[in-house]
Amino acid sequence: MDRAEYERKISRRFATFDQDGNGFISREDFHAAAAALLKEFDKPARSIQGQALHEGAEAFWQGMAGIADRDGDQRITRDEFVNGAVKRLRDNPGRFAEIARPFFHAAIAVAHSDAGSELTPEEAARVARILGVPEDISGKVAAVLDADGDGRITEDQVVSAFAAYYTTDEPDV
Ligand code: CA
Ligand code: CA
Repeated sequence: MDRAEYERKISRRFATFDQDGNGFISREDFHAAAAALLKEFDKPARSIQGQALHEGAEAFWQGMAGIADRDGDQRITRDEFVNGAVKRLRDNPGRFAEIARPFFHAAIAVAHSDAGSELTPEEAARVARILGVPEDISGKVAAVLDADGDGRITEDQVVSAFAAYYTTDEPDV
């Protein structure tokens, strides 16, 4: 991957987190993502599922801030994101799963239509789209996630796919 492609990928990942597009990642972005998911799947914020999703969003934010908000101003700038979050999460993918799992666990509970705890490919694609994953990628998400083709997507598959998406490779230099 060349430097320009890397910059494009990083910009898209930053934008995925920066839900309100104000140029930095903050707590509000994570709660905005939770609210958008609840709206998409027609679940009230005050439901048990809604509260769990907002708690997961808060934990996700706290985890990301702990990794990347070096100056402690409660904002993750693009520079903090690139030089903190991306590098540290890539070096330790298990850490990403740890901080993101409560959010995705709750998101799956909000998004899945039946009594199970897995998503259909269509539900997974809707989650990805609402979280700001670009359309050209989210359209492929279902196929990528459901690699074994059984039509069911587990929590582990969701978490590891997002971890891979957020922790892209560095350019070959
Ligand atoms: Ca923001
Ligand atoms: Ca900061």
